[in-house]
Amino acid sequence: MPLSEFDIIAKYFGSRSARSDVSLGIGDDAAILNVPAGRKLVLAMDTVVEGVHFPSGTPAQDVGHRALAVNLSDLAAMGAEPSWMSLSLSLPEADETWLEQFARGLFALADAHKVALIGGDTVRGPLVVTIQVGGWIEPDHYLLRSGARAGDGLYVSGVPGEAAAGLALIRAHAAADRSAQHLKSRFLRPEPRVALGRALRTIASAAMDVSDGLLADLEKLCAASGCGARVQVEALPRSPAMQARFDEPTCLRYALTGGDDYELLFTVTPANEAALHAGTLAGVEVARIGTITAEPGVRCFRGDQELVLERSGYDHFALR
Ligand SMILES: [Mg+2]
Repeated sequence: MPLSEFDIIAKYFGSRSARSDVSLGIGDDAAILNVPAGRKLVLAMDTVVEGVHFPSGTPAQDVGHRALAVNLSDLAAMGAEPSWMSLSLSLPEADETWLEQFARGLFALADAHKVALIGGDTVRGPLVVTIQVGGWIEPDHYLLRSGARAGDGLYVSGVPGEAAAGLALIRAHAAADRSAQHLKSRFLRPEPRVALGRALRTIASAAMDVSDGLLADLEKLCAASGCGARVQVEALPRSPAMQARFDEPTCLRYALTGGDDYELLFTVTPANEAALHAGTLAGVEVARIGTITAEPGVRCFRGDQELVLERSGYDHFALR
């Protein structure tokens, strides 16, 4: 007998971890939250659709992890502390094995960040997962896209491009050697940079997370800040796994234009750059990849040589 909506919520998503800021969680018509004194509420929402944002047949555990990770990444980009989530799940059928695995992936990440599920909804339809996350932020310490100024250093966390390379390998059903495993997991299991975002609250002048590709997102940050940027491609973090599977131009294209990394892109004033010289912050590698310029537009250089980038379709670049 198929599970009803109530059965699904009770069996897989009911009574989870308690938080002092959740006055009433799942079970009534709506949730009630206690807003901590001296905090602002930060909200973000992201939807992932099977066949659009992740390939059909992606393991349910990975779908659960990734759907929450992309949302937590948006909170990380604001410097917020995550606190709760609500979930809307559209499913073709109430497959108990799938639901159990989905909940496992979702809650493993939620528990790691002490995020409580406070409400949800299930409907029958194509596989679509919408999560809204909430978090708290100190009123005078948060990160926006609009704070970059000419002369600021430009930084990125992690190794941009690996997620796009991993997605290409998943789509090609590539043999699963160690490099391929690493790259695929970078797409399927992005690690939201929550601790880094918290650490950057008092260091960065602007920040955002990289979801559409380094250059495309950098353009958004520059537009919001009313400035431009110069990227030195030789300073981009190298990926041994990408280099083992792809030639140099392809690696560069993934690093500059591949989406789905969920790393943080941020800027730092010259006065604050000393705090970053060690190259690691909150346990994450950060690399200085360029400089913010007064002149608008994003330009890429290798040494003093400018690289000409050619647009090939919406929000994508190809190297000429
Ligand atoms: Mg974002």
